[in-house]
Amino acid sequence: MAHIVSYVYILSAALFILSLKWMNSPVTARRSVLAGELGMLMAIVGTLLAFKVFNWEWILTAFFIGTAVGVPIAYIMPMTAVPQRTAMSHACGALAAALVGTAEFYRANQFHEILPTFVMVPLMLETLLGFLTFTGSLMAMGKLQEVLPQRPITYRGQNLTNFALFGIAAGLGVWLIVNPAQTWIFPIFAGLSLVFGVLLIIPIGGADMPTVIALLNSYAGLSACAMGFVLGNKMLVIAGALDGSSGLILSIIMCKAMNRSFTNVLFGAFGQLQVAHAHVEKRPVRSATPEEAASILDAASSVIIVPGYGMAVAQAQHKVRELFDSLMRRGVDVKFAIHPVAGRMPGHMNVLLAEADIPYDRLYGMEDINSEFAQCDVALVIGANDVTNPAARTDKTSPIYGMPILDVDKAHTVMVIKRSMNPGFAGIDNELYYMDKTLMLFGDAKTFVGEILKELPARAAA
Ligand code: NDP
Repeated sequence: MAHIVSYVYILSAALFILSLKWMNSPVTARRSVLAGELGMLMAIVGTLLAFKVFNWEWILTAFFIGTAVGVPIAYIMPMTAVPQRTAMSHACGALAAALVGTAEFYRANQFHEILPTFVMVPLMLETLLGFLTFTGSLMAMGKLQEVLPQRPITYRGQNLTNFALFGIAAGLGVWLIVNPAQTWIFPIFAGLSLVFGVLLIIPIGGADMPTVIALLNSYAGLSACAMGFVLGNKMLVIAGALDGSSGLILSIIMCKAMNRSFTNVLFGAFGQLQVAHAHVEKRPVRSATPEEAASILDAASSVIIVPGYGMAVAQAQHKVRELFDSLMRRGVDVKFAIHPVAGRMPGHMNVLLAEADIPYDRLYGMEDINSEFAQCDVALVIGANDVTNPAARTDKTSPIYGMPILDVDKAHTVMVIKRSMNPGFAGIDNELYYMDKTLMLFGDAKTFVGEILKELPARAAA
């Protein structure tokens, strides 16, 4: 049986790795999800085979409760709420790891079993990371769902207090490794870890939560990996390590794409910067009606559509698909420019456009499309703001200076659909809107694209 379990685990690990690889492209993303699901099923079956299970009823109860909660959530939660749903999963996974560690600690003490240092070290790591990830993820979820204040809450000496608290928790963990019989320390250690999770997230602005969630994902993975060492389960070690490293890589990619350092995201209280820059100058802009926009698009031979967070908020992707079809039928060459941090989570735009069945080969990453803006007739920006802001290239005082952007300002004509002159995530004005070549199309993205669509057939008949 041990042989069979080993083979099942190896296959399962291979499927996890393939799943991560296939997640890299929209073409293989569906296959990736299936591979991940199959890998997880095999890991569960392998684990049930590996151990003599005495209490099937508990396992089945947990299985049915988990399914009853998980399936409706997957259907009910909108795409824009995926970051908070992910935070909820981390909170549950991390709590599970922390509770397993706690149970293992007390079990060993109850039976006067001396756990070797090789087990005690990961056990303490598992519980520390598990508890802080649990409360940290709940806080992140609360901020994203706006049940908690989104603005960063800061106070003097905050970082010092946080580091000191973490230091005390880690110190108690070391004490327990050396003196595992001192069980009274454990609740204090666990309590401090829980409090640290809350304090870690308080100074971070709501809009930075997606990056923080990727990082918390990494912590939850490392906690599961440590749990694998505690329980002597290779599958947990592999899956936890994959989760831990991929979460870390993702948060690094997100920080790079925003030209922000890790420390700036975690300790920079970025939301405060937004408040400081949130004044929008009252300068004249040129605006246009849906009819005028339709006539410009009708006359164009190449159009690059730049979707952003506003398209997700408006759920305009299906209307955008109709616009894409209509323009392509007219012989216009339509491409989509996807910025790596457009929207509020990595791949946000890809997922929405895929949902609307826009062909993958029409989606271009920033590096591939930027050289094409100078030749394109119209850049149509739909609910994107920061990712098109030329200040990132030119204004050294701008909070987004250095962030790679889509070179929308180089197109012959720029049209921007948004509801007002309000700023985006970074809270700053966008110079693009004041350029002579730019036309502001004020309105909700879905409604405005719908109105353009109504005008287009009329133009064909004209
Ligand atoms: P922005 O947040 O910069 O701008 C979105 C714009 O959409 C707003 O200016 C808003 O203007 C407009 N908008 C909102 N609702 C609607 C609507 N219903 N119809 C039309 N327009 C609407 O979004 P971007 O996608 O350009 O940039 C993403 C930002 O998020 C970047 O700064 C990035 O660093 C940050 N970020 C991204 C992460 C990711 O992983 N993708 C993670 C963390 C942060 P108005 O209110 O006037 O309509």
